[in-house]
Amino acid sequence: MSLEHGRAVRLAATTRHLYDLGWMRGTSGNVSVVAQEDPRHLLVSASGIAKHATQPEHAVITDAMGQALEGQSHAPSAEAPVHAAIVDVSGARSVVHVHAMSSVLAAARWPSGVALTGVEQMKGLGCSAEGDVYTVPVVENSQDMAVLSERIRRALNPAVPVVLVADHGMYVWGASLDDAANRTESADWLLQHALLLDLVAPPGRRP
Ligand SMILES: [Zn+2]
Repeated sequence: MSLEHGRAVRLAATTRHLYDLGWMRGTSGNVSVVAQEDPRHLLVSASGIAKHATQPEHAVITDAMGQALEGQSHAPSAEAPVHAAIVDVSGARSVVHVHAMSSVLAAARWPSGVALTGVEQMKGLGCSAEGDVYTVPVVENSQDMAVLSERIRRALNPAVPVVLVADHGMYVWGASLDDAANRTESADWLLQHALLLDLVAPPGRRP
């Protein structure tokens, strides 16, 4: 198995895993991994493929801007330029984008950013679980990928590998495909926790 085919196999398996968790309904969501540097190439989910049916041949090679290289049998996800921008600004090697309900609801509840502090699961994002407050940025959605990329570049908090896009979903990144997927699971847990805590024990009613 070539290195590239191996990456495509893992990209497809990760995509199906995230679909199984309920975060990639229909054809929504996408995953990318850096395939090479100098020049940088990304392996990105193909556009328009039902996520439960994703196979290794549904990975598309793009350049450092998220534009497909010539000779690909599928078009990359429309959001590939956003993945490319996050890799560029964060140094991540892999990016996951999902429409998890928790991310959309948390962005609606806290449109200026979601504060996370003092929860053990924060270690799953590479954050400290004691003391520090980490703010997950929220940016406005756009159908223009250049506009959305720029909003994420400006808002990105280097201490938190997550950005929420209002009325849309979230981007999560990491040092590898597994790292980005694991962090996505932690991010969903933390956002669900914040939303539920706000319901069962709002700030004024905590001891
Ligand atoms: Zn999306």
